[in-house]
Amino acid sequence: MVLLRRSTQFPRCTTLQSLQFSCSRILMQSDKGRKMTQNLVQTVPSQVRSVSGHPAAASTQMEVWQGLSAAVVDAIADNWHATEQKYRAGRMEHYFSAEFLMGRALLNNLTNLGLVKDAEKAVGAFGQNLSDILEQEPDAALGNGGLGRLAACFLDSCATLDLPVAGYGILYRYGLFKQLFSDGFQTEHPDPWMEEGYPFVIRREEAQRVVRYNDLVVRAVPYDMPIVGYGTKNVNTLRLWRAESLEEFDYDAFNSQRFTDAIVERERTADISRVLYPNDTTYEGKVLRVRQQYFFCSASLQEIVDNYVTHHGDDLTGFADFNSIQLNDTHPVLAIPELMRLLMDEHHLGWEDAWAVVSKTFAYTNHTVLAEALETWESSIFEQLFPRIMEIVREIDRRFREDLAARGISQDVIDYIAPISGSSVRMAWIACYASYAINGVAALHTDILKRDTLKDWYAIWPERFNNKTNGVTPRRWLRQCNPRLSALLDDVTGSDAWVKDLSLLEGYADAADNAVLDRLAEIKHSNKADFAAWISAREGVEIDPDAIFDVQIKRLHEYKRQLLNALYILDLYFRMKEDPSLQVPKRVFIFGAKAAPGYIRAKGVIKLINAIAELVNNDPVISKTLKVVFVHNYNVSPAEHIIPAADISEQISMAGKEASGTSNMKFMMNGALTLGTLDGANVEILDSVGDDNAYIFGATEEELPVLRETYDPHATYETVPGLKRVLDAFIDGTLNDNGFGWFADLRRSLLEASYEPADVYYVLGDFAAYRETKDRMAADYADQRAWQRKVWVNITGSGRFSSDRTISDYAKVWNIQPQPIA
Ligand SMILES: *Cc1c(COP(=O)(O)O)cnc(C)c1O
Repeated sequence: MVLLRRSTQFPRCTTLQSLQFSCSRILMQSDKGRKMTQNLVQTVPSQVRSVSGHPAAASTQMEVWQGLSAAVVDAIADNWHATEQKYRAGRMEHYFSAEFLMGRALLNNLTNLGLVKDAEKAVGAFGQNLSDILEQEPDAALGNGGLGRLAACFLDSCATLDLPVAGYGILYRYGLFKQLFSDGFQTEHPDPWMEEGYPFVIRREEAQRVVRYNDLVVRAVPYDMPIVGYGTKNVNTLRLWRAESLEEFDYDAFNSQRFTDAIVERERTADISRVLYPNDTTYEGKVLRVRQQYFFCSASLQEIVDNYVTHHGDDLTGFADFNSIQLNDTHPVLAIPELMRLLMDEHHLGWEDAWAVVSKTFAYTNHTVLAEALETWESSIFEQLFPRIMEIVREIDRRFREDLAARGISQDVIDYIAPISGSSVRMAWIACYASYAINGVAALHTDILKRDTLKDWYAIWPERFNNKTNGVTPRRWLRQCNPRLSALLDDVTGSDAWVKDLSLLEGYADAADNAVLDRLAEIKHSNKADFAAWISAREGVEIDPDAIFDVQIKRLHEYKRQLLNALYILDLYFRMKEDPSLQVPKRVFIFGAKAAPGYIRAKGVIKLINAIAELVNNDPVISKTLKVVFVHNYNVSPAEHIIPAADISEQISMAGKEASGTSNMKFMMNGALTLGTLDGANVEILDSVGDDNAYIFGATEEELPVLRETYDPHATYETVPGLKRVLDAFIDGTLNDNGFGWFADLRRSLLEASYEPADVYYVLGDFAAYRETKDRMAADYADQRAWQRKVWVNITGSGRFSSDRTISDYAKVWNIQPQPIA
């Protein structure tokens, strides 16, 4: 394998300043007696030498990263094996997800193992700086956004809580595309994250399975990633499957000089684990997606069933006593008919017995309130790929109809929620029927599911429904990414116990004397100075750490309303132009977002924000007060740099659309105040901190249907001061979209009805309230003592948004207990 230095992607932190900063950030981590092993200083040089074939001192930084990572795997190997043995003998939870947005592993593992200092010493011994070495690691971006990052946070919590849980997904060769900007337009590029070797996945050749399609038979080879808990010996597993052909190449074809034919099958197989979410606008693309889904469900279930047989014999009727499976959204729902197939065809259970097992095994997490966004597939795809699975789905559908008719449910309702409708298979309805538990991801979201999206299900099986408000891991999202604040919390609380129990911070809500408040302000300022250096190196924009850092980072989607934020900035620009004496606090507006490659309107918003950035940042007067920065290629690692430096957390989705949100929680833990609507988990954040400590605006989910009746976007555009000027700038030459017409389309989407009503996401409707609240918030920042008091309330009130809390709640549904190996 060629180990190349990844030097061509984008400018790395090369300024002296940024190197010093990252160095000091790492040095600040304290390992406080939690060290799990002693030997890194000895093992690292030999690991580096075996990777590079050179003395450690002559190895490249990439080789040192590889060697250090291998040394970490070496340090945990025995505990990892012991954990696996222990879990497999008892009851286990299996978390099935098409996405795991893991980010980087090395620093996370060092932090959780208490080995940061050792690692520094180890690489320092041959002249390397740990923070430079950490920057070599690519992000494992095997996910899109919140749903995939949630799965990653959950794994961290399960390991930290010693819970017998394993994750299962796909080892995508290419993660979510790498985003670059070309003249302000998003361009997409492949993300070959493990091409140069990735020590944190171990190929388990011996545990491979065969997955059969009607037209193709493939090998599923597992690659296991260790999930290291904080301050515990347990090491959990994320198992990612890679598709490989049964034979490397067709020898006969190769021998007879048909070289391309010889590898056709191999490439067709490799397609299965090539990319996350292949374009599914064509029929062939849809077939590939379904093939992927079945691939990891079938391989994982085969393994789980085999493990059951090993430990408990071949009577599978007790399967659900030892296994439960959480379906993260509908992508893994094919596991339901596949488990039926395995139980009936391979282990000789009758339908009733098999269904009794299945309906005690699965639980389903819903992630969207939009009924039209629930996944459906044409039944012809199932027929083509796996007729037996289609046959089982038809039987589930037939029995479902019979079952519901016997319960006296009306034919209309039965037709609406049956697993099969005409020629389409509806994955969410299969999940709802087969699962013993169904959950939404925030209180408001679960309410909307019960009241609206899944109301017919709720009417029949109310006991299946429960809420599990999302959470994020305080290890990565506070301990690791914000060592300064972390040290303050250690000092105030007297230990690092809060890292494993974030609710402890609640007891210190009143502990903020002026000394603490001043330290909070200093910490934020230092984080902002670090971030300014990072931005300067990465994006070439200079920003002032004394300005208010106002941040919106999340996937680009109309419902998340990045456009509303953009309208505000442009309006503020015009207000300042019009009245040069206007007192405006210094502000930096920071964005990070990828748009789905086919989502033109989202791409239009990216170009719009970049055009506004160009206008504002190049204005010699305005740029003294305002700056706009769009961080390219938003991902987990950039988030770790951005969030500790944020003052304002923009959570401005149209009420009722954001299922939960999790960046809102990361910001809260890091002392940014929420500027948001009453949507998703924002509702619970407000409940936790109170009205005085969050900035809430806009129409509520309850109010919107009433407001809509009389809502006239065009009249709003005419009457709300400033709106006309802003929207007209889209088309009068002030902003330039290089003739694509995208800005005109954005403007039209707000003002004119088309295939959908004008301004579906109520951007203009909420504009005046948003502007008033955001202006007030910026003015409030001037009183730093009062501001830092709000910050402290947010940090200490963030305990319930730890994923440890979420997972403790799930553990009850899963009926599992901690299984520490020591
Ligand atoms: C947390 C996170 C998300 C989710 O952000 P929301 O604002 O909740 O949508 C998306 N992407 C990355 C990289 C994240 O870390």
